[in-house]
Amino acid sequence: RTLRVDLKERGYDIAIGSGTLPQCAEFLAERSSSSHVVLITDSNVDELYADAVGDYFVEAGLEVELLVIEAGEESKNADVLIDLWQTMLAEGADRGSVVAAVGGGVVGDIAGFVAATFTRGVPFLQIPTTLLAQVDSSVGGKVGVNLPEAKNIVGAFWQPLGVLIDVDVLGTLPAGEFAAGMAEVVKYGVIMDEPFFEYLESNVDAINARDSETLQYVVERCCRLKADVVQEDEREETGRRAILNYGHTFAHAFEAATQYGKLLHGEAVAMGMVCASQLAERIGLIDAQATQRQIELLEALSLPTRPLEFDSEEIYRLMWHDKKVADGKLRFVLPTRLGEVKLTSAVKSGDVIAILEGDA
Ligand code: NAD
Ligand code: ZN
Repeated sequence: RTLRVDLKERGYDIAIGSGTLPQCAEFLAERSSSSHVVLITDSNVDELYADAVGDYFVEAGLEVELLVIEAGEESKNADVLIDLWQTMLAEGADRGSVVAAVGGGVVGDIAGFVAATFTRGVPFLQIPTTLLAQVDSSVGGKVGVNLPEAKNIVGAFWQPLGVLIDVDVLGTLPAGEFAAGMAEVVKYGVIMDEPFFEYLESNVDAINARDSETLQYVVERCCRLKADVVQEDEREETGRRAILNYGHTFAHAFEAATQYGKLLHGEAVAMGMVCASQLAERIGLIDAQATQRQIELLEALSLPTRPLEFDSEEIYRLMWHDKKVADGKLRFVLPTRLGEVKLTSAVKSGDVIAILEGDA
């Protein structure tokens, strides 16, 4: 299954399949004549998959440099970036090299930024290995690193040459990471695709069993939906891309309140979507049943649906630190029905706090 992300001369294909990792060299050869690959991965994915990917490239006659960063969000920083640049230079990488990311969103984001900046830009291949990376971060061209003060604050838009997705690699993903990825999957259904939301409701067991056919369909649908949004708003200028932030204004505050430690991003998004939907309900945008269906689906996918013991005023304050706060107004993406959302800043602080305190 191949999808096209139509961005004129920066357009690219997303190939989704099962057992397709061995096709990586062919996938690259169809898109680049480079014979030097800088493979970037993390310390978990290295032995699991990146080693093998390196071998496939070598068997195809390419020269491969494997660079391994420590697994975890803490690696997505400027020091690691400098290390990667310097190692590449020492290993003889140049403008003719290609950077390939094999890993989750952390690897994709930092490797993508390395690709965007090394010699002012080299081609970049994405081979995402977490569900979150396959349905979200590998599509759309946002790359970058964190600063201690703020997440994802330094970066670029750098579209890949192509994205190669093998859903079989999801078999080794820890349960919590898998569930966290599913939160973003549910998000796509709520913001733009009611039939897909219904498909998820009907296929929870197959999803939880990580059935290959089901996952291929799920990943394909999410990539198509994200690609459609990105095609309309490649550089986050028209506001269209903002709908992807459903649940995220709350989620970012929950993550900040826990120092990004206790909660996975997807878990925070699950709770955030429920809060956003309850807020929409409270101000009369949507009926209670739509919120209830989201709660039931998220719970069936082993995701949390009610905020932890947070201090509501503190969460409300943290929501204002989100970088999406435009012209002094908190903007929310709120559902008007399953499959449709609207952006609004016409929300009273009292309503937000009431939701955080659990009186939906
Ligand atoms: P991650 O990259 O840290 O991966 C999660 C964990 O799973 C890591 O320990 C990793 O080593 C391990 N892992 C990866 N693949 C595995 C596999 N197949 N089997 C077993 N273990 C595996 O986290 P993530 O959730 O993939 O990505 C989160 C990052 O993505 C954040 O930094 C976030 O900012 C970024 N992100 C970027 C975008 C974007 O548009 N660029 C969008 C969303 C999120
Ligand atoms: Zn997210």
